[in-house]
Amino acid sequence: MARIIMIGAGGVATVCAHKIAQNEDVFTDFMIASRRKEKCDEIVKSLKAKGIGQNMNISTAQVDADDVEQLKALFSDFRPELCINLALPYQDLTIMDACLACGVNYLDTANYEPRDEAHFEYSWQWAYADRFREAGLTAILGCGFDPGVSGIYTAYAAKHHFDEIHNLDIVDCNGGNHHKAFATNFNPEINIREITQKGLYYKDGEWIETEPLEIHRTLTYPSIGPRESYLMHHEELESLVKNYPTIRQARFWMTFGQQYLTYLDVIQNIGMSRIDEIEYEAPLAVDEGTVLPEGHPTTAKVKIVPLQFLKAVLPNPQDLGENYDGETSIGCRIKGVKDGKEKTYYVYNNCKHQEAYKETGMQGVSYTTGVPAMIGAMMFVKGLWRKPGVWNVENFDPDPFMEQLNQQGLPWVEVFDGDLEL
Ligand code: NDP
Repeated sequence: MARIIMIGAGGVATVCAHKIAQNEDVFTDFMIASRRKEKCDEIVKSLKAKGIGQNMNISTAQVDADDVEQLKALFSDFRPELCINLALPYQDLTIMDACLACGVNYLDTANYEPRDEAHFEYSWQWAYADRFREAGLTAILGCGFDPGVSGIYTAYAAKHHFDEIHNLDIVDCNGGNHHKAFATNFNPEINIREITQKGLYYKDGEWIETEPLEIHRTLTYPSIGPRESYLMHHEELESLVKNYPTIRQARFWMTFGQQYLTYLDVIQNIGMSRIDEIEYEAPLAVDEGTVLPEGHPTTAKVKIVPLQFLKAVLPNPQDLGENYDGETSIGCRIKGVKDGKEKTYYVYNNCKHQEAYKETGMQGVSYTTGVPAMIGAMMFVKGLWRKPGVWNVENFDPDPFMEQLNQQGLPWVEVFDGDLEL
């Protein structure tokens, strides 16, 4: 019997719920809780329509995950064994606090970010390690695709194919087309904050900063072809260089089309990517038919964060699936030595947007994140990934996870001693 709660009801959470419901032999009691209960109910409706999860006890609830007391009340009432956090990175710490208070284990897919600073690093969450260890609770950090599968691929390479890993390049290509002028594939606010910050990579014991998207080169992706790929900072580099100290160079590359970059440039230049508050004189929101008393002001000064406002007018990533074609290709290109000989290794998954949509109603980027989140939960529930403390995914045995990737819709391919282009 496994009793789990998932927080968030967005694109990634919708995929994760579908995969949980497809694995009724593992999960028995499942609560979906989010800021708006109706979104949780929509997910349940979609599971019912697909005839999955019929033998599970599925419930829904409203919760503001910024509020530790609300979370504690919900956890005390439902008594989950594990909380899968698929809300936003802003809520990581409040959810971890509530988990500690109520004896709940924890899993997420993105590291904590303060709302007022586009800056992410693991230190905030690693600082919980002693408290989780003392409480006998497991926290699994970054269990999506990247971070997530990228770390598991690296752990698998280190376990089976290398004595020492020297160079690690994580390559993330979205070769799909959603046929919109501009849209982001996951939460626009989080996505734009990530892409517009400075690049960072690791070389010979140092972190080297670059201007945003300054370094780029053409890389070839299986079944997709050549795509311009941009060096970015990505959170898993921080844990991977710590956990694999033989690494001399670690970088993360992501593809962007020229049109996307042109729009992004405009968004930045006109100030719409700002994350500070600005004052705006807005018309009062009054119900239709309501007549304001004479002399009553018809406008009010409000504070808005331009990037949050932009999110409200951009296409919802959850609605992109229907017309999305093409596929994603994400993998690790690794150089190192085995038995005194230099070797290269490339392990990757390609995921077709339309197949993801047919199965879950969501596009490939949500799919490649939601499936690993479910597998991480499965690893915990089966007792395969359990150790008190706060851990990144590469701290656990990669083998059972890799086996499940093949069974749960994200099969992987290995290339030995090929040209890594990097
Ligand atoms: P969405 O914005 O679609 O979903 C986030 C969900 O969290 C929404 O349902 C939202 O509610 C809910 N939420 C937001 N704030 C609160 C709150 N205070 N209390 C309760 N619920 C809240 O995002 P995605 O599904 O695209 O992304 C989910 C997570 O996955 C993000 O953290 C993202 O960074 C991460 N991610 C990780 C990847 C990886 O490979 N590791 C790749 C892609 C994403 P509402 O519906 O009301 O807005």
